[in-house]
Amino acid sequence: MTKINEIFKEHGIRLTQQRKEIFKILLNISQPVSANYIHNLLKNKLEKSRLSTVYRNLNTFKDLGIIKEVSSVNNNKKLYELSIGSNHHHHLICTKCGEMEPLDCPLEGYEDELKKKTDYKIIDHSINIYGICPDCINKTQKK
Ligand SMILES: [Zn+2]
Ligand SMILES: [Zn+2]
Repeated sequence: MTKINEIFKEHGIRLTQQRKEIFKILLNISQPVSANYIHNLLKNKLEKSRLSTVYRNLNTFKDLGIIKEVSSVNNNKKLYELSIGSNHHHHLICTKCGEMEPLDCPLEGYEDELKKKTDYKIIDHSINIYGICPDCINKTQKK
């Protein structure tokens, strides 16, 4: 939690109760989630939380670089996941059913190398790997 406190302070933005709760939800989940999903969980904790506020807060998080938007393959819905801290990972995505598996990042050493080679300050990277999941392979084979 410390890190997010610092980020908000740095930007002079108040860390409201709802923002804290949203952050906690994202921290505890390994898959990208929709605003609706977050809203449903929040309703149990914070009575007054509205979907529009959730969207607004998610945008604030995005502007601060705390979360990033990924779009789900099967229905083009916007999903959100943390982009800071130990939660950094990549996705293996099934193009048939849209299932996503989190993958560990293989690129940390490479970023350091690249920094040395190019003098760039490396900020971020993103990789998705696409394929067909075992379930979907089984389904097509049975037909
Ligand atoms: Zn699949
Ligand atoms: Zn990575």
